[in-house]
Amino acid sequence: MLHHQLGDMQINRIIEYTSSEYVRTSFFPETTAEDWVQHETWMKPHAMDAATGNITLIMQAYLVRTRHHNIIVDTCVGDHKPRPSRANWHMQSRGTVPANLAAAGISPEQIDYVFCTHMHVDHVGWNTRLQDGRWVPMFPNAKYIFSKKELQFWEALPRDEKTAHFVDSVLPIVEAGQAVLVTNDYALDDEVWLEPTPGHTPDHVSVRLASNGAQAVITGDMIHNPVQCLQPEWVMRADTDPAQACRTRRAFLERYCDMDVLVCGSHFPAPSMGHIVARDKAFWFEFVSAAR
Ligand SMILES: [Zn+2]
Repeated sequence: MLHHQLGDMQINRIIEYTSSEYVRTSFFPETTAEDWVQHETWMKPHAMDAATGNITLIMQAYLVRTRHHNIIVDTCVGDHKPRPSRANWHMQSRGTVPANLAAAGISPEQIDYVFCTHMHVDHVGWNTRLQDGRWVPMFPNAKYIFSKKELQFWEALPRDEKTAHFVDSVLPIVEAGQAVLVTNDYALDDEVWLEPTPGHTPDHVSVRLASNGAQAVITGDMIHNPVQCLQPEWVMRADTDPAQACRTRRAFLERYCDMDVLVCGSHFPAPSMGHIVARDKAFWFEFVSAAR
């Protein structure tokens, strides 16, 4: 399996599945059909389905191998999870995340840290797996790095279908004693640390990486699609605080524009990684050519 070399680190995309089910004007509910016309040429066919015009999203984790640790960032949708209102997430048995981890040469036992950028259903799923009718940690030797503030936000919500993933994919980690509750300025070491990127959820974080002078950032859902580089004001339907999400995204684009920092988009279409560059007085996402 191809990896991207970042200094002494290796970065792998661990793909769960790719979907073009997302209707653009409902995924970005403030947009109209006309807003999309100018983007169709560059988005099709990779970022937008050529036939339907739906936008393409990848569900994937990032595997980061440093000199000291094996780290997985975000854990996708998961298998066997009851999500009755979402056919693509309901009672799945894809097995792709463990299979693709194995293809990258890593077993669940070898993961040292799990980072979750936020606690949405498609970022915590493989935190747990079903064993004898109980949800147990998927990565038995890992510490799971959770934002304490994000955890408290979800804890305070009513227990219904919208929080089912919190109950089956986050709480069992806490109960197993494997959760480490941190603030959004947490640093694992001088190579891996959090960057606060609030708005999509209250304490959403991105994950910064540095090795031997090479730098990267894993976005999480601070941004969903490269079209938001050109249109940072486009709000995604699940943003908890849309105004804050826009401020965060614009500040992120300004911070990393024309910088030698690899941007790893959590849901971006293949190859998902690239750089933010200035082009025609706007931000543009320039994909890397390797690591597809
Ligand atoms: Zn997501």
